[in-house]
Amino acid sequence: MSVLFKNASILMPDMSVLESAYLGVEGDKIDYIGESEPEKKYAETRDYKDKLLIPGLVNAHTHAAMTLLRGVGSDLKLQDWLFNKIFPIEDKLTAEDMRVGGSLAMLEMLRTGTTSFSDMYFFPHMLCEAVGEAGMKANISRAVVAASPDERWEDSFRIRESVELFDGYHNSYDGRIKVDLCVHAEYTNNDSIARRLGELCDEKGAIMHVHVSETRSEHDECITRHGCTPTQWLDKMGCLNGKALLAHGIWLSDEDMELIRAKKLSVVHNPTSNMKLGSGFAPVQKMLDMGIRVGLGTDGTASNNNLDMLEEMHLAAVIHNGYTGDPTIMKPVDIIRMATANGSYAQGRGDTGALAVGMKADIAAIDLDKPHLIPNFDTLALLCYSVQGSDVCMTMVDGKILYENGEYKTLDKEKIYFDVRKSVERLYR
Ligand SMILES: [Zn+2]
Repeated sequence: MSVLFKNASILMPDMSVLESAYLGVEGDKIDYIGESEPEKKYAETRDYKDKLLIPGLVNAHTHAAMTLLRGVGSDLKLQDWLFNKIFPIEDKLTAEDMRVGGSLAMLEMLRTGTTSFSDMYFFPHMLCEAVGEAGMKANISRAVVAASPDERWEDSFRIRESVELFDGYHNSYDGRIKVDLCVHAEYTNNDSIARRLGELCDEKGAIMHVHVSETRSEHDECITRHGCTPTQWLDKMGCLNGKALLAHGIWLSDEDMELIRAKKLSVVHNPTSNMKLGSGFAPVQKMLDMGIRVGLGTDGTASNNNLDMLEEMHLAAVIHNGYTGDPTIMKPVDIIRMATANGSYAQGRGDTGALAVGMKADIAAIDLDKPHLIPNFDTLALLCYSVQGSDVCMTMVDGKILYENGEYKTLDKEKIYFDVRKSVERLYR
């Protein structure tokens, strides 16, 4: 695409906002940002008066096809919810469900400004293809659990699938699809499986995506089982040698956080899921103060129950104030970085996450011409506290507009709804 956005408000990498400015996109990259009109001629010019351009949002921890389980088993405790409600339905999920549920997730993500997500689930090749064809970006992993406490890695078809996925899809679709490796969690795995996945991460340079210290009981039971915390166990198993994305991290100890900081690992905060499941409050500001790059995610829609990253930003911005009694604790600038640049870092993508010349054109536009967005005294605060997912009017990935004013350019909404109804009928019959 060759397009110039003019008269736009533009959120810059230093978190300043340019007003009545220009942003040019050529091919898949941003090639101009400035307050004066560029000399270069673009194929198309769009007037973006009253629109704010922000980096595309990165949903750094989710299970996309869980849209088919939206809200299932609400109001149960995590272990009861997972083992008695979620797992029995997940046993019935097919490869086709992954395409269908993943496509429904993309409809929702694109219309709320998300350009990239990190996913952990089953039949991941179907999601790779659906995302690749839809034009979005994703880091996709096969959730690996041990079938029994003494399952050996050599017998794990889940590990075989993970390797096949990596070899078949990593960096496919012009690098939009990346494949991570995944230990689902300490409490669903054993030493043999975790060690092998750690070795594979080293061998392939893959990112490890894992649930860590989500509930107090999970954290404490790991200490009883192994004499160390889940983070320390993963480190012992060799799972944290390279890049890693640790989802939740609510009950991390000071030693855990020091290890995460020293190894430059990412933690992903999932405030809605944590509040809904009563899991607790992650020490987000403490980690940010230590220099840990905390990303933001929605988790799956069974525990959220939507994929709206702007709602996630709002919650992340307010819940810690309430919990600590300190309204200065979370700053909009931190929240916005979590939802953009820190998420891109967690995905191992150095060419996106900020609006700057030379970066990939992954952009969301917010329509500011709304009653709840007037007056605007502080655009960063507006973005965290007032803007809603439904205010997104355009989402672009790698220079291509995938969503604009209710219309999808690559996804067939009616067909996806039809397929979703078919899947749901079979799953819940
Ligand atoms: Zn999760």
